[in-house]
Amino acid sequence: MDRPQETKMNLNCPICGGQLKNDKIRENIWVDGKLLVIDNLPSKVCMRCDESIVDYKTMKKIEQIIEKFKHKEIEGIKFTAYEVDSGAVALA
Ligand SMILES: [Zn+2]
Repeated sequence: MDRPQETKMNLNCPICGGQLKNDKIRENIWVDGKLLVIDNLPSKVCMRCDESIVDYKTMKKIEQIIEKFKHKEIEGIKFTAYEVDSGAVALA
């Protein structure tokens, strides 16, 4: 179903202007000397230069996970987070 108003932006890569496709990426973030792995992040990836762009909502989600991770509240979050190896947490 198409909405009458096109709210979806036809985004192009801010680096090279190439076409972006929807993809899932993995972010490795070091938090207080521990590796936090967040998997399956919805992202747009440039088909030309591989630049990945996450939207505002996803960025906020990442920040949230980092905060929870820092405060060791990671089990309390809605996402299925599991221990991968020594201190790494991945989002299922
Ligand atoms: Zn690009």
